[in-house]
Amino acid sequence: MWKDYFIPQAQHLKYLSERIARDALPHALLFYGPEGAGQLLHALWAVQLLYCKDPVEGMPCGKCLDCKKTSQLTHPDIHFLFPTAGADARSHQFYNDWRLSLAENPFLNGYQWVQTIASDKQGNINAGDCHVAYQNMNMQAFEGGKKVLVIWLAEYLGKDGNRLLKLIEEPPEDTHIFLITENRDQIIATVQSRCQQFYFQPYPTELISESLVRWRGLGEAEAKKIASVCEGNMNEALSLAGQSNNDFEESLGTWIKACAKYDPAERVVWAEKMHKTSKEEQKQLIRYILRVMRKAILDRAGQPYESSPLEAKMIRYLAEKISADSLYGSIEVMNDTILQIARNAHPKVTWMHCSILFRKALIGKEVEPERIY
Ligand SMILES: [Zn+2]
Repeated sequence: MWKDYFIPQAQHLKYLSERIARDALPHALLFYGPEGAGQLLHALWAVQLLYCKDPVEGMPCGKCLDCKKTSQLTHPDIHFLFPTAGADARSHQFYNDWRLSLAENPFLNGYQWVQTIASDKQGNINAGDCHVAYQNMNMQAFEGGKKVLVIWLAEYLGKDGNRLLKLIEEPPEDTHIFLITENRDQIIATVQSRCQQFYFQPYPTELISESLVRWRGLGEAEAKKIASVCEGNMNEALSLAGQSNNDFEESLGTWIKACAKYDPAERVVWAEKMHKTSKEEQKQLIRYILRVMRKAILDRAGQPYESSPLEAKMIRYLAEKISADSLYGSIEVMNDTILQIARNAHPKVTWMHCSILFRKALIGKEVEPERIY
């Protein structure tokens, strides 16, 4: 259940709980911050408190019927809008899948979610779905009390955000709209400006490693290692906890060898292998490569970093072969590659291009990302 994963950011809880106690919660709230900072969980917590019949010291009691319904995400007056794929898709058609995905990892990002319902498609919150939400919010509440709309990843609204403007501007009585986002800049300004905004910061490293031990049963050393590289992003921490770093190390070793060779044959084999790998795996691998490149920069600068023996060998090799400028250039190339993959570029072409640029870095040429797309 989502509650098992709720790690509060205290300053927001206090404010929200005071406003709810005075029945003065703003009608439109925007929870923003980077990926994996728990925006959605905080909205669900506030919604639970809104409905709780018997709050205890400003917290939901967890025992009343409303608390049960909100923690199981089965309250009939709480509506959800989230990304789906295709113009005719509606959130409610995928609601059960969404609940199940959240039960496993409530920090998941939009890309991961959309892949579970329509692999290799781009997600969005479409106009028809906005219309459904609009109607729901203008109907009588089933239980005669408050109505809530939670828009998970409001950046996926795009221009269709305009369709919800009136609802956000003049909400029907006793309604609250929570917009959750990991990319506030992609929400149209008119919507942003009508919401009370709450910033969620990345989680501290310590808290992430403790959580991995508790939730995923990891050993302390491994949990600390993962927490140290995921930059406060709980989603990334959970994804890494489910994967073995050894696989990444081996893959990176193969790629470096392929790029170091004059003969392109192994780079072609590599690109073909990537072509058959899921997008999410490719992105995870690139994130790992990025971390290794950053460590190579630290190595060049004589700064300390942590690594396994095999990883340390690769880091030293990169630090010796590639200038600091080219390492920064290569990091940009890898970031660009993640973007291309997310945007459905052809994986084989993308990897061939990125391998050529990385080869340039390895043989001592300066690397700047060239955009051929
Ligand atoms: Zn309660």
